[in-house]
Amino acid sequence: MKLNFGRDHLAIPGPSTMPSRVLAAMQQPAPNIYAGPLLDMTDQTYAGLKRIAKSSGQLISYVGNGHAAWEACLSNTLSPGDTVIAMVNGRFGGIWAQIAEALGVNVQWIRSAAEQSVDVNQLQQLLGDDSHHKIQAVLCVQTDTSSSISNDIAAVRQAMDEANHSALLLVDGIASFACEPMLMDEWGIDVLVAACQKGLMTPPGLAFNFVSDKAWQWHKKASRNTPYWDWHPRVNGELFPEKFGGTPPTHLLLGLHEAVKMLEEEGIENTWERHRVHAQCVWAAITAWSQQGKIACFIQDQAVRSTAVTTITTGDEDAKRIQEWIQENTGVVLGVGLKAQAGAGLANNQFRIGHMGHLSPPMILGTLSCVNSALLALDIEHGAGALDQACRVIAGQ
Ligand SMILES: *Cc1c(COP(=O)(O)O)cnc(C)c1O
Repeated sequence: MKLNFGRDHLAIPGPSTMPSRVLAAMQQPAPNIYAGPLLDMTDQTYAGLKRIAKSSGQLISYVGNGHAAWEACLSNTLSPGDTVIAMVNGRFGGIWAQIAEALGVNVQWIRSAAEQSVDVNQLQQLLGDDSHHKIQAVLCVQTDTSSSISNDIAAVRQAMDEANHSALLLVDGIASFACEPMLMDEWGIDVLVAACQKGLMTPPGLAFNFVSDKAWQWHKKASRNTPYWDWHPRVNGELFPEKFGGTPPTHLLLGLHEAVKMLEEEGIENTWERHRVHAQCVWAAITAWSQQGKIACFIQDQAVRSTAVTTITTGDEDAKRIQEWIQENTGVVLGVGLKAQAGAGLANNQFRIGHMGHLSPPMILGTLSCVNSALLALDIEHGAGALDQACRVIAGQ
């Protein structure tokens, strides 16, 4: 019988749940874009975003998604013929490296298996061998949303420092930003790439580059910084629209202002901790299921798991059956499995649970309970007691 008459729940790793406060903040007529409250509000929002990133650099924004933020970062720091190292252990790292190649940059790939952290030893060696500092930049994704691995950005910086290398450190924090710890200044990140539809709980459409002083200097010689992508007018433009390369995304700015306010009310360290507890709740259930049958966390080592998203492996095709059953019968939408290689399509033996952004225990426990119902309904073999284990995490036991 049909049961799902309440709210549906989108448990995918972005776009994430939009808080009622964010939706309500956008219920306004079109604001003036040359003067008035929108301008001050945006200044406050951007100051808040820099506090959340622990960044003292410039914050530049685009009307765009994560792909726009990626291309903006590369266009402003590199020129055709430059060489970079891409640390790649998942689909998103791979796509970013391919974009660099398409922009005429020579990319040295350091590939690691999707269930392993990026290889900082190999990075240190390659940088150490590069005595003329031909390598301009190192690209690394903090959380690769396909595998749900979390790379240690401080360790990447340490390898660069130990090799005594001057390359820029460019980091994709699209999935992790405002979910997982980020210390941009302390970790020596030169450009941090982010977008608004994951941890920032705002409808897709705003892309960000947080830029260190060093990257700001470098960008003056990057020959790909064409008028639309160029950071410069977006920081120094006299009129508010110049900061967006044209008409500002007014209602996204209204929504984002409320989202940043919510994060600052919670305190970003508390937000990180809330994500960690919710992630442990998910992992506790999966560990119990994994005692029998084929369900398991794709990333075995807890220390390198993202706390924003979890990739779960199943028997062949089971993931697809679970996703279909759960959506039809419970109104929960799970994330599809993505193969680790860029462009390789969907993995039907994997699904993902997004636990990023505006979430509470009933949403997490509800999602896990509905997955458990799917396992029962589809007669997929699994260990018992998963929900009890998940509840123990929420109970602090
Ligand atoms: C979602 C995501 C992207 C892509 O963002 P889009 O908004 O879909 O362009 C890039 N990198 C990571 C790590 C992501 O999670």
